[in-house]
Amino acid sequence: MKLKLHWQVLIAMGAGVVFALTLGEKALFVAPLGTIFLRLLKMIIVPLIIFSITSGVAGLGDSRTLGRMGAKTFGYYFLTSLLAILVGLTLSNLIQPGAGLHLNEQSAAFDPGTLAKPKSMFEILIRMIPTNPVQAMADGDMLGIIFWSIVFGFGITRLQGRPQQFLNQFFQYGFTAMMTITRGIIAFLPIGVFGLITKAVATAGSELFKAVGMYIITIAVGLSIHFLVILPVVFWLFTRLNPLDHARAMLPAFLTAFSTSSSGATLPVTMDCVENRAGVSNKVSSFVLPLGATINMDGTALYECAGVLFIAQALGVHLGFLQQVTIVLTAFLASVGTAAVPSAGLVMIFVVLDAVGLGNNPGAALIVGTMLAVDRPLDMFRTMVNVTSDSIGAVVVAKSEGEEHLYSAI
Ligand code: ASP
Repeated sequence: MKLKLHWQVLIAMGAGVVFALTLGEKALFVAPLGTIFLRLLKMIIVPLIIFSITSGVAGLGDSRTLGRMGAKTFGYYFLTSLLAILVGLTLSNLIQPGAGLHLNEQSAAFDPGTLAKPKSMFEILIRMIPTNPVQAMADGDMLGIIFWSIVFGFGITRLQGRPQQFLNQFFQYGFTAMMTITRGIIAFLPIGVFGLITKAVATAGSELFKAVGMYIITIAVGLSIHFLVILPVVFWLFTRLNPLDHARAMLPAFLTAFSTSSSGATLPVTMDCVENRAGVSNKVSSFVLPLGATINMDGTALYECAGVLFIAQALGVHLGFLQQVTIVLTAFLASVGTAAVPSAGLVMIFVVLDAVGLGNNPGAALIVGTMLAVDRPLDMFRTMVNVTSDSIGAVVVAKSEGEEHLYSAI
């Protein structure tokens, strides 16, 4: 009997940990397996998004359906991100992970100039509109590609007769081909995960982790609460379905998110699980998921909020009620603007720091340097939470659109 994929992946993870702990840095010779797998996933993302969104929007038929699904999707994304931020806010105020911390000695070697600070939020919104869609595709500019694909798909709905049929079929078949390739890549998931986990464990130093232990615990507890309590409750409230069925269906995607730290790279696996294991229609998943991978990041939103509060506490800066409200709002915007790649959330923290006047504080930059050094495990966890929220969003929208037979395939 063939072992189920998620068991294979879990075994590969365990093997990677043992391998890295036994051989230390010598284990790194298997790291290229992870790199190759990651490149295969990245190879498929741009064409997958173009074919999936264009075919999805073209298949919606009219602008009213598009508007309705868009409103539901954005509503869900806003709600869950906000809940995540509130969890981060509450825990940081209760635990006070940064109080009495002296990080400067450990961080002295870090040069803050090496972190590229992001531009303003407004500019990120404007940049959504690509002046040249082909360039957006070449640059892998996800928001630009999504915007273009929605517009193009919408253009197809306005055609009639043979031209419409032809383009609809072209994008539908193209999408089917992309998903077939995705299936092929997923077959290598255990091997890729083995390489990725070995590298993550073999290169982790332990000293700094102890120094910022409370910070790591605060974020980890917050992410766990959101993952294990808030999201399942939201899921149940909207769908009346069993959250465990969802977890079972999504396990390969969760483990991929955890291993790659990139919701973008995980997107092909997320789409495969949501469509073929959870049973959500292509119409819904091809609209909700690429959008979610790019703008809906609950784990990152929680992290932005808790991270800034941690920095303020470590600097001894007291933040009042209004400043905390500002953090909630900007943490949400920062999570929307975060790219779906490893550690992107940490860089976006400067947007939130700016909003409360700590953006140019040299002490804050040093602390961010320390946070960067210990970011990998937190990034793995928050990426998994990001992907979980996207996938639940797809089921919530599917259910509200009257879709039946969810989870009958597992
Ligand atoms: N790595 C995360 C993701 O791809 C983003 C982040 O750094 O928070 O979802």
